[in-house]
Amino acid sequence: MTQRVGLIGYPVEHSLSPAIHQAAFDTLGLDARFELWPTPESEVAERIDGLRRPGYLGASVTLPHKGVAFDLVDDTTERARAARAVNTIVNRGGRLLGDNTDIPGFLAPLEQRGIDLTQTRAVVLGAGGAARGVVVALLSAGCRQISVGNRTPERARAMVGMLQAPVPIWYGPIDAALVEWLEGATLLVNATAVGWEGDALPLPPAMLETLPREALVYDLTYRDTPLLQAARRLGLETQDGLEMLVQQGVAAFRLWTGQEPPVEVMRAAAIAARDGRA
Ligand code: NAP
Repeated sequence: MTQRVGLIGYPVEHSLSPAIHQAAFDTLGLDARFELWPTPESEVAERIDGLRRPGYLGASVTLPHKGVAFDLVDDTTERARAARAVNTIVNRGGRLLGDNTDIPGFLAPLEQRGIDLTQTRAVVLGAGGAARGVVVALLSAGCRQISVGNRTPERARAMVGMLQAPVPIWYGPIDAALVEWLEGATLLVNATAVGWEGDALPLPPAMLETLPREALVYDLTYRDTPLLQAARRLGLETQDGLEMLVQQGVAAFRLWTGQEPPVEVMRAAAIAARDGRA
C-alpha cells in the first residue's frame, strides 16, 4: 500500500514541502506520497484524527494550525511542549506523536556556521508562532540574552510571558528602545511576515546600521529579502530561511520513515521549487 503523508494548513498551495519530501521518497525508493491537505479550522480535528489510519505516516502542520495540532495529538515531545506548537505529526500504530522540528531546523544553519549560542546576544523580530519557536530554540541552545521586538508590543509581552524562560527576556516595540539591544547584538532574526513581497524591511534601515559588523542577520523567509540585501550592503553576514525549511523537513522525514534522509536531494528540490524550476 502506498504510504501517505501531507501538509495540513490553510492555505497550503504555495508550499515547497511536496517537492522536498517527494524527492526524498523517490530517491530512497519508498512507496510513499506527500500530499497537500488544505484544511480550514472547522476540519482540523477530523483531519488529524484521520492520521491514525493504517497507511498514514503522519503530517506536517503549518499556519494557522500548529497550536491546535498541539492540543489534538496524543503525545508530544519536550520541544513541542516548550513551544506549545506542533509542526510534525507521526502516526505510531494509531497513536499520534507531535513534535516541533522547526526548532532543530532553525538551529541547523547556526550549527553549520559554528556559532556558539551560549555566547550569542540575540534580537528577535516578531511575536507569532515562528518567533516563539525561535526563542524556544535559542533558549534550548543556551542563549541567555534575547530581546524581542514586535510591531504590536502586547503580543511580544504575551509571547514572552508564556515561555517560562530561565532568564529575563526584554520585549517592546521596534523603536528607539530596541537600538540599545541591537548595538550589542551578534544575531538578528527576522521572524515577522515582512519580507515575502515588496521592499519593506521589518525594522527601519537606520536601526539595522546600529548592528555590530560581526552580527549575523537571519531571515526566516526562504528567499533573498530586502532585509538580507540591506544587511549585505552593510557588510553583515546573512542567512535566509530555506535551510531551516529543509532541515525541519529532514527531521520530520526521519521520524516518519525511520530512514536517513537524502539531505542534498531535499535541498536541491527545495531550491528548484522555490525558483520555479520544479
Ligand atoms: P504569524 O504568527 O502570523 O506572525 C506574524 C508576525 O509578523 C507577527 O509578529 C506580526 O506582527 C508580524 N507582521 C506581520 N505583518 C507585519 C507588518 N506589515 N509589519 C510589521 N510586522 C508584521 O506568522 P508566523 O507563523 O510567526 O510566521 C512568520 C514568518 O516566518 C513567515 O514569513 C513564515 O513564512 C516564516 N517561517 C519560516 C519558516 C521556515 O522554515 N523558514 C518556518 C516558520 C515560519 P503583529 O504581532 O504586530 O501582527
